[in-house]
Amino acid sequence: MPHTWCRRTAASPMSASLHMNQFHLEVRSFALISLKKCAVIAVAVAWPMLAGANQLATQPTAGNKPSARAAEVTPTRSGSASAASTPAARPAYDGFLARLLHRPVPGGVAVIDLGTGAGRPQAWYANRPVMVVQDQGHWLAIVGIPLKTPKGRQQITVQTARDRKRVSFEVGIRRYTEQHITLKNQRLVDPNPNDLERIRRELAEQQQAYRTFSPRMPSNLQMDRPVPGRLSSPFGLRRFFNGQERNPHSGLDIAAPAGTPVRAPAGGRVILTGDYFFNGKTVFIDHGQGLISMFCHLSAIDVQPGAEVQRGDRIGAVGATGRATGPHLHWNISLNDVRVDPTIFIGEFAP
Ligand SMILES: [Zn+2]
Repeated sequence: MPHTWCRRTAASPMSASLHMNQFHLEVRSFALISLKKCAVIAVAVAWPMLAGANQLATQPTAGNKPSARAAEVTPTRSGSASAASTPAARPAYDGFLARLLHRPVPGGVAVIDLGTGAGRPQAWYANRPVMVVQDQGHWLAIVGIPLKTPKGRQQITVQTARDRKRVSFEVGIRRYTEQHITLKNQRLVDPNPNDLERIRRELAEQQQAYRTFSPRMPSNLQMDRPVPGRLSSPFGLRRFFNGQERNPHSGLDIAAPAGTPVRAPAGGRVILTGDYFFNGKTVFIDHGQGLISMFCHLSAIDVQPGAEVQRGDRIGAVGATGRATGPHLHWNISLNDVRVDPTIFIGEFAP
């Protein structure tokens, strides 16, 4: 049975464009945000001290590691590996998933046409396995692009039954707003040394969750908002604390009263829950193919690790746990262990 990537198959292009019209209104409200409500600030502040925690992360398994000697090609209209000289500024495939998700900028997503061959290709980007789905007969790599990616050409490695090759795609520019914040609570800048071991351990645990790659197909890639409400702080906001630039905002904040049910925006498996120093009560859902959602600052967690959830199931409730100064939902979306802008998946991305 063909996979359905959105709620409304026949009408999906129309509904996608309606969503696009709505987001202009939403996005203007970003200018009014107060990032003080975002507790993940504290993670950013502590990051330089915790950089070593990266090394605690799991390595890709041998089977997941692409060969270094793959041939380079660029995608063509047919998706074949033959001689095209133009990079894939826009994929030849122009189906629903490209229109919804192809936002090839730092912090965005590239939808790369891998052609229509028999057999499912595998793909990697920066040595991490990449989501591969099929739509309208085309195999598509859905690649998360790190915020620090410079403008220009990037490559994925693709393995088919016949060969292994590199496929390139172009990354453009996206300007992210800056916010300058003065913190009076010095502990947010310099966490208590007694907290640091806990923070390091929790960060490693969460990083490992982001690196989950399960073969299941996501139930849907056009997602629902986990809670209704105003988008109160955008993904990627560049934050300066007491004049120093620290980690940008890794997710999307949605303002909602404490106790508002948080619902799974797509089906999946709960892979981690915790009550963390910075993020508070937190749920991670593996939607499949390296697509991971994280929800934090919850007042309640209603699911256990290992639970299967369906789209729309209640997983917890909005709160202000961890380093939050007010109730809101902070929602991260990760693809190939890269945090990307959740507005892409709810049809509200603003260039
Ligand atoms: Zn946030």
